[in-house]
Amino acid sequence: MNDRGRTPAQGRQISVDDAAAAPGDRFDRQRRIAGWNQQRLRNAHVLVVGAGAIGNEVLLKLAMLGFGEITLCDMDRIEHSNLARTPLFRPGDVGRHKVEVAAERIAAIDPELRVHPVVGPFETSIGTGTIAACDLVLGCLDSLTARLAVNRRCLLARTPWIDAGIDDRAASVLVIRPEQGGCYECALDPVAHTRIARRYSCADKLLAAPEQGIAPTVATIAGLAANLQVQLALALLHDGSETAPDSPFAAPAGGFRLTVSAHPWRLRTTRRERSDLCTAHDETAESPTPLPTGTHDSARALAAAIEARLGWRPGTVFLDEPIVERLACAACDESGWVGVRRDDFPASEAACPRCGRRRSATLARSVATDGPLAHTPLARLGVPPRAWLTVADEHRSTRVELAG
Ligand SMILES: [Zn+2]
Ligand SMILES: [Zn+2]
Repeated sequence: MNDRGRTPAQGRQISVDDAAAAPGDRFDRQRRIAGWNQQRLRNAHVLVVGAGAIGNEVLLKLAMLGFGEITLCDMDRIEHSNLARTPLFRPGDVGRHKVEVAAERIAAIDPELRVHPVVGPFETSIGTGTIAACDLVLGCLDSLTARLAVNRRCLLARTPWIDAGIDDRAASVLVIRPEQGGCYECALDPVAHTRIARRYSCADKLLAAPEQGIAPTVATIAGLAANLQVQLALALLHDGSETAPDSPFAAPAGGFRLTVSAHPWRLRTTRRERSDLCTAHDETAESPTPLPTGTHDSARALAAAIEARLGWRPGTVFLDEPIVERLACAACDESGWVGVRRDDFPASEAACPRCGRRRSATLARSVATDGPLAHTPLARLGVPPRAWLTVADEHRSTRVELAG
């Protein structure tokens, strides 16, 4: 169990371990740091999103430091081009899933570490309920859309997260704390906001493959970003309030960004305040009702479970991710319901089966519990296990967790 919900200061215990640093103890050197709390790290459950160059370095350090529990999520398999930046991988691992190999290697570093590898994209693999059970999320991603999803779910779950980003000459980390300061979306520039808006509106363009950037990077910059990220994680877990004056590290404020540049050489810190334009913050703080429904169930089954539990039947289930709801051919009137997460929809299937022309798509962010997609499994609509979903009828709305 994690001890989220208590402040870090309350979770802090001066245990016998802390007091009795000993040369035979693998954590001896760090225990000698005044205010260090090894038990706090042992009790912590950290979610690491992305097991590439930055994720490798982060996982390595979390295991070496004695963290207790790590969930790691990544969809990719190891390629030869990863090996120059991934200390956990070897040539013989090429072709295997990154999270499976990484989980084996960090478990070997610390056999007491509990590791949960999750193969898949973050958006459809890690629900907000999973994040709410974690003390901290570390984003080691190269995709804007995955970062946006991490950001929204962490704000909803009220779990702090730290984003890391790199290019060929600079490493940057951003601390997001739901209770204070700006978030990842607050910090985006107007161009990125336009890209986000387009993602949910221009249906035809969105049938192209999602962004897949390959950026030039080097292991040193990735390691720099990862080490800054883990150092900030240590600070957040050791402190987080002024009631821990003996904390060895200054807890970073929400919206704190640290950038290290190698050309020109420069270290810069900034603090991003919350933007009035940002729609990512959820102020309702309503705890979801857990339901025995799972992602293999449909919207209709979910509605039935809610009716059984709460006494009213929702007509609409809102989705985090856009889906391709319907395809229609302007040339020959051919049309049909689809019901697949937009990023999972193959562009090749946009062609009209009758005339071969490209059909136009309708995107949706919700599904009707008695509509044409009511029987589609929620997983196909991109809903992850332990998702928090908002459901509504004409009079009311509520939030539920898919706990089944
Ligand atoms: Zn924001
Ligand atoms: Zn056609």
